[in-house]
Amino acid sequence: MNMKRSSKKKADASRNFTLIELLIVISIIAILAALLFPALNKARLSARKTACMNDLRQIHTAFAMYVTDWKEWLPSNPGGDYYMFKLKPYLPGTKVYTSCRLSNVPDSVLNGYEDGYWGTRNISFGASIYTLPVSSYRKYMDITQPSRKILFGDSQTSKQSGSTLSNNAAIITYAGYYLPDYRHGGEANFIFVDGHSRPAKKIWGSGMLSYYAHFVGITHLLSGPPTSATYYDTFLIPNF
Ligand SMILES: [Zn+2]
Repeated sequence: MNMKRSSKKKADASRNFTLIELLIVISIIAILAALLFPALNKARLSARKTACMNDLRQIHTAFAMYVTDWKEWLPSNPGGDYYMFKLKPYLPGTKVYTSCRLSNVPDSVLNGYEDGYWGTRNISFGASIYTLPVSSYRKYMDITQPSRKILFGDSQTSKQSGSTLSNNAAIITYAGYYLPDYRHGGEANFIFVDGHSRPAKKIWGSGMLSYYAHFVGITHLLSGPPTSATYYDTFLIPNF
């Protein structure tokens, strides 16, 4: 009796669901998953970009409070005393400064920055050295065209990329080792001195000169790419 029932069950099962049907169902699921994954990935990248921009705005708010309290003196970077150390009273903790990551970097690698130069490798956002100089102090009123000057942006973090480079990710420049990191689908987030923020692609124009010009807000002076390194060193850098 029992045997009879179980063989009947088997017969029903094979009639309901053949191997071919099973394979078809599996392949349809695979196709749907393949269609869905890029969309999910895009949504995740977009969420990360928005979170990054919010963190930049928080840092900018702390910056504005610092400038008000210190009678317009900027949290400049001389002597390894980088901006995030100065903003500590206004934005405590280290999470916000190290929040924007290249990929799935575990917390054990990036568990906040440490004080001092070496700690700056963990930082996600650099301050433009043309706005917050590394060799001198400066006042807010000395910044001309604040809506065109980059203040903070996504910076290259050597620890994030698994590199052993001693990159100082607390600063960004237009050339050299301390470049912005275009980690949001080919774009980096920037916040300007006046508080507006936007993502930007690596190539803003033709060559280094235009790249630099965007940092210091002199794009209106551009007539073409530089003919030599001397051209932008001698003409443009002292003029910001
Ligand atoms: Zn970012």
